[in-house]
Amino acid sequence: MKKHNFSAGPSILPQEVIEKSSEAILNFNNSGLSLLEVSHRGKDFIAVMENAKRLVKKIANLSDDYEVLFLQGGASLQFLIAPLNLLKETGKAVYIDTGSWSAAAIKEAKKVGNVEVIASSKEQNYNHIPKSYSLPKEADYLHITTNNTIYGTQFKDFPVTDYPLIADMSSDIFSKQIDFSKFGLIYAGAQKNLGPAGVTLVIIKKELLGKTNRNIPSYLDYQVHIDKESMFNTPPVFATYVTMLTLEWLDKKGGLGEIEKLNQEKAALLYSEIDRNSLFSGISAVEDRSLMNATFILKNEKLNATFKEMLKEAQISGLEGHRSIGGYRASIYNALPINSINILIEVMQLLEKKSS
Ligand code: PMP
Repeated sequence: MKKHNFSAGPSILPQEVIEKSSEAILNFNNSGLSLLEVSHRGKDFIAVMENAKRLVKKIANLSDDYEVLFLQGGASLQFLIAPLNLLKETGKAVYIDTGSWSAAAIKEAKKVGNVEVIASSKEQNYNHIPKSYSLPKEADYLHITTNNTIYGTQFKDFPVTDYPLIADMSSDIFSKQIDFSKFGLIYAGAQKNLGPAGVTLVIIKKELLGKTNRNIPSYLDYQVHIDKESMFNTPPVFATYVTMLTLEWLDKKGGLGEIEKLNQEKAALLYSEIDRNSLFSGISAVEDRSLMNATFILKNEKLNATFKEMLKEAQISGLEGHRSIGGYRASIYNALPINSINILIEVMQLLEKKSS
């Protein structure tokens, strides 16, 4: 029996995507070859890459002003690549620090140039999204982390600037409808809502490139990847294929409008149980609660062992909180069925009954 997978990432993928991927490992497109042993220059894989890009543009409703890339190195490499490409030698990059992934992005940007952190919720252990800050008049870009995987907070509205807004959307990409045209650059490691680990989605507004005089190393230069259509070097063939299947799945489901409804429903069910159940309490500020990662604790620590045992019995996996904040984290990404949430809620209610 398949477990209820609440893992924060790599995380649950749609079952049909896993099945189709296994078929392709055995026999890719009836070619008599495994997907794992075909050339990335062959027509079958070129079609996969093109289809994946087309689906991203369709799902995000992107104009031709944007280019879609599939790269390696995870979101962590984007922490460095973004400033290398967009932060001018005499310019300034502005960051909002909403968690340790934002802090990691800030650390890399500081190696490239001048960085101003205009707001941070670090002092409160990143339990909310800062809202009162003033944006400088001029900057090369403003960087935000739209969803903070570890803490379970999420931007509900995006800051409005006269300069490009760039975002790490690793843990909430394609989970709800947003206006992607508000962003100059978006990046996301695939391993939550998009596919398996090993590929990173980058969406870049082309007009932002070529404005620095920096001599950017080839792999780190977005323009090089655009010119080579994400085939500058051997791309992660398998991860890109699974991402394409996941995008197809999302598109067939009705795209962002439909998945948002489902995600809202799933999150509402879980948060209302966290709030109702006398044993639990949520970690993050209610108004900033993430649709993707719900963080909570058991008020009475003595119940942790019993709860963990019950989770195991119910075949619930991956519910531990991140080691830096402890407690529990239910990652309820696009592919997690609502049934898994219901099972988790049953266990929470059973624990309440048992301990009353
Ligand atoms: N940003 C966010 C919001 C994340 O959750 C993570 C970790 N999954 C990262 C960046 C780092 O991603 P990667 O492991 O792909 O470098």
